[in-house]
Amino acid sequence: MKPLLPILLLLVSSAFATGAEKSRPNIVLVLCDDLGYADVGYNAKLFGVETDVFTPNIDALAGEGTIFKQAYVAHPFCGPSRMALMSGRMPHAYGGQKNLPDEAKNLRDYNTKGIPVSEMLFSRVLQDSGYATACIGKWHLGHSEPFHPNVRGFDHFFGFLGGGHQYFPSVTDKVEPKINDYQYFLERNGEDILSPEGAYLTDMLTDEAVDFIARTATAKESEPFFVFLSYNAPHSPLQGKTEDLQFLYPIHEPENPRNGVDYRDYEKRQNYVAMVYSVDRGMKKLREVLEDPNRDGNEGDSISENTLIVFLSDNGGKILQAGNNAPLKDDKGSTCEGGIRVPMFAYWPGVVPSGQVYDHPFLALDFYPTFAALAEAKIPEDKQLDGRNVWPAFLEGRNPRSDETMFWLRHHGGGNEVAIRRGNLKAYRKQFSRWKIYDVAGDPGETRDLAREHPAMIESLVADGLEWSRTLEEPQWHDTEAGAKSWEENEMPKYPKTFGLR
Ligand code: CA
Repeated sequence: MKPLLPILLLLVSSAFATGAEKSRPNIVLVLCDDLGYADVGYNAKLFGVETDVFTPNIDALAGEGTIFKQAYVAHPFCGPSRMALMSGRMPHAYGGQKNLPDEAKNLRDYNTKGIPVSEMLFSRVLQDSGYATACIGKWHLGHSEPFHPNVRGFDHFFGFLGGGHQYFPSVTDKVEPKINDYQYFLERNGEDILSPEGAYLTDMLTDEAVDFIARTATAKESEPFFVFLSYNAPHSPLQGKTEDLQFLYPIHEPENPRNGVDYRDYEKRQNYVAMVYSVDRGMKKLREVLEDPNRDGNEGDSISENTLIVFLSDNGGKILQAGNNAPLKDDKGSTCEGGIRVPMFAYWPGVVPSGQVYDHPFLALDFYPTFAALAEAKIPEDKQLDGRNVWPAFLEGRNPRSDETMFWLRHHGGGNEVAIRRGNLKAYRKQFSRWKIYDVAGDPGETRDLAREHPAMIESLVADGLEWSRTLEEPQWHDTEAGAKSWEENEMPKYPKTFGLR
């Protein structure tokens, strides 16, 4: 009799399922900002790195799901990394490889540039296929109307449009005139809002996401949802919540700042750790609402088994702002592993393997086609993508791109910093220094240059890089006037020289 039960269940569920909706998962994409590779407990443990971070809820989700050991973003800075993630294309392909300017003064591009409207974002693909969509937190893909999340595929937006924000927004609400992104009012669907006195930004973002999920999951005609929960933590300014600092560091005395300096400014690492802990609290609340969306204390309405959570950072941690990328080399802004390889896990009970480590490259460019496939959503035929649907390979533990060449490129002063990887070997060059090559699977810290052993591989990768560079556009904007000036003076982008052997 036993084998009959699953078949019966299948018949019953297909008879009562409302169309395809039951098979399409909810998707929650949690993106942290500048979170170091070793700044989640599970990664520190995996690599034997000593750490002071305290992330029990993140670690539990990662442990019950799959840890991605080689997850990469497309660029070591916030803006272009997010461009790639949302558009599924390398940002250099359409001139989006620089951060958008943060300050309105003297920058003509501030309100006129953003992620090109010619790029359909995957939020729109999911929205068009019937998903309820929400973007909560940091956007950083353009300030004005054509680039606003509400016109780029998000039914609901709460957060801020720029590259960062102060963590106590009721304080910055009072600042006038507002001269940069970090001081603007938070907004909800285009309307500025005043933040409650003392409210802490990370908690506000969590609460908005939890409310959206509860509302959507318990609606009469419930649709699957996609939530892009885009925390700015632990990006600077390093401002932990007082309660978290007191919990983590009981000797902390916020009422007694040294020499009148704001206590939040000097104990950088403690604030950083507290900021990560506030994200961890968010993951606890997220899990709770998925297990009990009508919040009656009874998990009979759990949607956890139909929800994929993916957690990652938009680039590596910044060492000067207390981030720790051990055992990786370098940090935010670098095309060494510390700038582009990020902490990541996926959690989906019953679907994503539990207690596993996936040790093949995964690119943030893959989210677009992978999520679209999970959502059974149709991507327009003319949409160009640099990633691919990696879901089947992931579930089977295979490498979806063993023969594929992967590229990272950051404009750096009068030159470029680049990385080109195929298989486990990654060629690396900063400006016009000698090419180096590392086995980044076995030596993630890039400590052993294998250039003598692999001259032909370097030649092959550099040739791929040159060919790739011919498909790229110059930046449509610069983050600062100095950056724009330097671009002109140095006659950038200098690709033939960068992708040359000497
Ligand atoms: Ca970032």
